[in-house]
Amino acid sequence: MKAFITKLLNIPGVIVEDSQEIEGTLILSVKVEKKTAVCPRCGKNSHHLHENKRYLVKDLPMSDRQVILRVNRRRFKCKNCSKPFSETLDFVGSKKNFTHRYAEKMR
Ligand SMILES: [Zn+2]
Repeated sequence: MKAFITKLLNIPGVIVEDSQEIEGTLILSVKVEKKTAVCPRCGKNSHHLHENKRYLVKDLPMSDRQVILRVNRRRFKCKNCSKPFSETLDFVGSKKNFTHRYAEKMR
């Protein structure tokens, strides 16, 4: 079922972990499949997870239902700089509460 919803969602590299429906809105908890992220300061790959930060992002509707993604934007700790950083998500802008494809379709 999760694999099916992941396929339906169709964002490359993103997995749906959980889904629920509240008053006609589909809430999908998603995470990036990759286990590492690149440090923006030094460019080194880090796999040292610092914390999980969830936030909500609006995505394209599915079958007339509003879709909200509960995104886990993980924070990693770079061993090289010994500083934490947030991973970059390529389907949503850094300060945006909607996905790129939502912005494109709804413009
Ligand atoms: Zn670094």
